[in-house]
Amino acid sequence: MRLARVDLYRLKLPMLTPFETSFGTELVKDFLLVEASDGEHTGWGECVASAGPFYSEETTQTAVWMLTEHLLPRLKGDLLDLETVSQRLSPVRLNPMAKSAIETALWDLTAQRQGVGLAKLIGGSRTRVPVGISIGIQSSSAALVEVMKQRLGEGYQRIKIKIKPGYDVDVVRDVRRALPDVPLMVDANSAYTLADTDRLRALDDYGLMMIEQPLAHDDLIDHATLQAQLKTAICLDESIRSAHILEQAHAIGALRIVNIKIGRLGGLGEALKTVAAARRLGIGVWCGGMLESGVGRALNVALTSLDAFTLPGDTAATSRYFAEDVADPPFVLTADGCLEVPTGPGLGVHVIKDRVLRHTVDHRVWTPQ
Ligand SMILES: [Mg+2]
Repeated sequence: MRLARVDLYRLKLPMLTPFETSFGTELVKDFLLVEASDGEHTGWGECVASAGPFYSEETTQTAVWMLTEHLLPRLKGDLLDLETVSQRLSPVRLNPMAKSAIETALWDLTAQRQGVGLAKLIGGSRTRVPVGISIGIQSSSAALVEVMKQRLGEGYQRIKIKIKPGYDVDVVRDVRRALPDVPLMVDANSAYTLADTDRLRALDDYGLMMIEQPLAHDDLIDHATLQAQLKTAICLDESIRSAHILEQAHAIGALRIVNIKIGRLGGLGEALKTVAAARRLGIGVWCGGMLESGVGRALNVALTSLDAFTLPGDTAATSRYFAEDVADPPFVLTADGCLEVPTGPGLGVHVIKDRVLRHTVDHRVWTPQ
């Protein structure tokens, strides 16, 4: 494979409802799509960085710069396979979301060249995947319970709620009173410290599937200290940036479950290594979401077709987030809370160029010359 041209589209895609976390509120999804061509086939990748450096240090703008200045120039000439792509990108430290945007486009391109679906290419065996949904911070417990009932009615099998100091134990208690049996996770996005241990231990009474990333975004040791004092499983998201860090986290008892996000891990290659490590170490595995468009959504669905994914993912149906998505067909929730895994070549969805361009605010073209 030889890259002939790469188009970078920066989009601002309106969201149906604002999504609030402990970082802030998103109204418009500001993100990057990467279209990579070898002159014959085209692969698509999505950069899951946001407009601001709050989930991680990367932003949409830093990804554009990193891709054009450092990553794409390393991909000139023959690319023997996807391992070669990883090796060429590896001298650049960090910047996993920028790397993943081009690396996953090349996975799509490779699957298309072979005429197989991406799920099949990576060894996925499921034809449909169970999904849950992540619900942002609401104005009150009563409002949250109403949204949860609506989502459960739509068929979602598991709900994750965002928590932050002052919106945690009381809210979870109210939710449990209203919905005692719903499979429930909470995600703190690093909003606590070990000084909050008693408050986090109070959550042990509510039968949660996990508490996600309660402590600092780059911490392992405090999470190990906390996990030793909690009955509830700790799931790490932000802290796990490679298969190797997952092994270190496991070695000190910092987690029992890992949230796999392809963008945070620097691409599908590292995500597959991390899933394999989790399986070998007996760590629970599920796939989180970054409010992806249809491109990133299809990638997550392909990944979760692997039977190593033991818990429902966060890849909700298309209609949950956007009035007009960039790819067809949309992912539709089945009555029993699943999404069908596409079987067409590559990602198995068709990116609608008109829609991409309609929401594009910046378009750049890179060629190897
Ligand atoms: Mg998270």
